[in-house]
Amino acid sequence: MKQNYEKTAAELLAEHGVTQERGLTAQEASSRLELYGPNAFEKEKKTKLIVKILAQLKDVSVIILLIAAVLSLTMAIIEWEGLHSLIEPLVVFAVIVMNVILAVTQERSAENALEALGNLSSPVCRVLRDGSVGECDPKRLVPGDIILLKTGDLVPADARLLRSESLAVDESSLTGESVPAEKDADAQLEGDIPLGDRANMVFSGCLVTAGNAVAIVTETGMQTQIGKIARFLTETKQKKTPLQVRLDKVGKIISGIAVMSAIVLFVVSLIQNGGVLTMDMIIVAITLAVAAVPETLSLIVTLILTQGAKKMAAKNALIRQMQSVETLGSTSVICSDKTGTLTMNKMTVKRLWVYGAEPVPEDADFDGQKMRFLEQLALACTATVGRDDDGNEKIIGDPTETAIVTLAKAKGIDYEHLGDRYEKVGEVPFSSSRKMMTAVVRRPEGGYLVLTKGAFDRIPFDRSDKNVLYELEQMHDSFASDALRVITLAGKVVDTLPENLEEVESGLTFYGFVGIIDPPRPEAKAAIARAKAAGIRTIMITGDHAATAGAIARELGIITANEGIITGQELQKLSDEKFAEVIEFYSVYARVSPEDKIRIVKAWQTRGEVVAMTGDGVNDAPALKAADVGVAMGKNGTEVAKSAAKMILMDDKFSTIIEAVAEGRNIFSNIRKLVYFLLVCNISEIIVMLFAQFMSGEGWGLPLTPLMLLIINVLGDGIPGMALAKEESDKRIMNRKPIARNESFFGGGLMEVIIRQTFVFAIVTLAAYYVGLHVEMGGVAPTIEAAQTMAFLVTGWTSILHVLTVRSRKSIVFYHVKDNPRLYISCAVMLVLLGGLAGLAAIPAVGEALEMSALSGWQWLIVVALTLAPTIVAEYGKFWDYIRSRNAERTRVR
Ligand code: ADP
Ligand code: MG
Repeated sequence: MKQNYEKTAAELLAEHGVTQERGLTAQEASSRLELYGPNAFEKEKKTKLIVKILAQLKDVSVIILLIAAVLSLTMAIIEWEGLHSLIEPLVVFAVIVMNVILAVTQERSAENALEALGNLSSPVCRVLRDGSVGECDPKRLVPGDIILLKTGDLVPADARLLRSESLAVDESSLTGESVPAEKDADAQLEGDIPLGDRANMVFSGCLVTAGNAVAIVTETGMQTQIGKIARFLTETKQKKTPLQVRLDKVGKIISGIAVMSAIVLFVVSLIQNGGVLTMDMIIVAITLAVAAVPETLSLIVTLILTQGAKKMAAKNALIRQMQSVETLGSTSVICSDKTGTLTMNKMTVKRLWVYGAEPVPEDADFDGQKMRFLEQLALACTATVGRDDDGNEKIIGDPTETAIVTLAKAKGIDYEHLGDRYEKVGEVPFSSSRKMMTAVVRRPEGGYLVLTKGAFDRIPFDRSDKNVLYELEQMHDSFASDALRVITLAGKVVDTLPENLEEVESGLTFYGFVGIIDPPRPEAKAAIARAKAAGIRTIMITGDHAATAGAIARELGIITANEGIITGQELQKLSDEKFAEVIEFYSVYARVSPEDKIRIVKAWQTRGEVVAMTGDGVNDAPALKAADVGVAMGKNGTEVAKSAAKMILMDDKFSTIIEAVAEGRNIFSNIRKLVYFLLVCNISEIIVMLFAQFMSGEGWGLPLTPLMLLIINVLGDGIPGMALAKEESDKRIMNRKPIARNESFFGGGLMEVIIRQTFVFAIVTLAAYYVGLHVEMGGVAPTIEAAQTMAFLVTGWTSILHVLTVRSRKSIVFYHVKDNPRLYISCAVMLVLLGGLAGLAAIPAVGEALEMSALSGWQWLIVVALTLAPTIVAEYGKFWDYIRSRNAERTRVR
């Protein structure tokens, strides 16, 4: 059987029952969709729940717990005293189950979040159906569809080319070949030809790097070449981010300390016991290790990162690489395209000037001369008139051109049928590097009309008469300083066309200008100010003229004092070293090409800045890759740019970048809170246990039984810690400097606070134990059970209250419950649960099982007082911090 690449275009069209002019009918397309299914990969089967649970059992702390459970079960059986001996092993098992449930559900929710993010970024493709071109979800493509491809597109399905113009496709995802493959609709191929050489075919998932084409879809979904590979691809795991790696290290250090302390505890108790080993010693040591190992740390960090990515997505910033979630928080320079990101990209012609007449606003009455000029300008456009989803007329193409075409149509020019009189015979396409384009049309009266439109300073029109040139420049600057983007039209009439079409772009005559307004986005100015307050410099990059760019930069507040404007030409004259020296001075880059962007990124980076760079075109890809955070436009960006970027702006707005930065900072601060929280709780437990062991000569026993440690581990540390992931930081986070790349989790005085609180925690627990052990109160004789119960309550409760302390550098008095209701609810529930357990100890059977005893009123009072102490100390610290920072601010203002 003949392969698709061996068939001629006509054969394929006939085989699929379709014509190149009309495409499929909507009806036929939907019935084929039923038959072939959607053009998408089959969903990969999710890992089974049981597999996930088993994976958890490999976790070190779970293994330690399992050993503890087995040991305590063995001991219960050896020293059988009735059913209640089973309580301890049962609780240990319950803790294991809870740990696994927590881990699996959190992992699930992280996965779901990632999957949902993946679904958000779906591209569109252009398809011909019922004779008109429309945009369509690639999933709905069927074999036989006629698709249109242009530079920057993602090929939506495997297809045979019908027509192509200098088409090149990056097929590296399929063939590994990094150089784009040149394609040709007319290539005739026969025999067994490898994928990479099938020049008349394009393949799903590949990127169009140049040219344009029309093609007929031959395969969709799993039948495509990439679909066949996808079958063998295993799930692509998100790599750990540098932050996660660093945190894992912190986790390992704490775990190390925990295990070491457990060993010390064990050895000391062994020595004190005269070398006689008891099962109890082993269990205590093991439980301490389990309780003090921050096993929830990496779990909650993953949760914080995915939650953060989800929140960013809700604000229209789509993260393609988890890593950028954290890089965003450190961003110190944002280089942003002007057109479409800082401005609306809704272009409207505002003014028109034909050489020899006066400039007129767009709503004036146009005389014959102006109409002729407008018609010629329209002839030089490549935008097409199509339909949107609702069947309304829509001009598809570059916004600059849609502005021109819209005006032409409004003035009564029949744009769609201009070609009937002036047949288009050639075109030199627009590129952001050349900043101009040329159309050649055949004149009805004979000869060819060459029309070049583009940037005033790039078009090679005749500049010999200096007086005329001066007049043109004056007029150009008067347009540009009103923030108008100026499109120049020049042209000539020739009898014959040169072999190489680009050669017609010479000896042109200047015809006139249009001035196009592209208003700044309303929210951009505030976002730039917010960035500035946050210590982030905004740099504007544009292909527009310096005067136009400057006017808009001033409107937006990018230029406020004497920051400079530099043009691409001036930039090219600077050496890399010189440029890095003077870069601070420039806030606006005008008339630059995408190739210059990479220099801007690199120069800022050599100054140690963390650079975000936006981009939309194919040529932007290298700069997007080089930037610390490459940001692609979701609406107007090409697929090439999106695939090179680390973040996609779904709404193309500059302000969205700032939102994402704020979220990135929030994430870092949440992680710091988490470290603060877990460290204090876990290390203070270690201190308490070790101290008590050394005091055993004074008649001290264990302040916390293994059972208590485990209960606290889940109810007091684990669950409240989870609620921290949802924490929203206070507004002041955007008034601080960007987070340094390698900023320690303990910076800014956090280490001191952690140490202080850890000791306070240890002291109050030991005090509770001491009081319970030695002080007779309210007629209740001191017992070791009462002492342990008191220590249990104080440890558990203080750690729950601690969550509230770590939330913010602000005093808890200023918190609002509505900021994070989940946190308050889970804290309240856990407080009641722990208190309830101790209360139930009044029932003898329960008390015996939990190894607790009922407390007297006085004892409860002491417990409450001791529980509040660490919070009061922390508040006192916060108060002094506040005073200090206020004083610092005052001196700065002076
Ligand atoms: P930007 O960075 O603002 O998108 P471009 O590189 O796209 O800038 O455009 C730069 C200049 O090229 C514009 O100021 C204008 O003079 C010219 N230009 C832009 N679009 C077109 C077009 N479709 N046809 C002709 N000239 C254009
Ligand atoms: Mg542009």
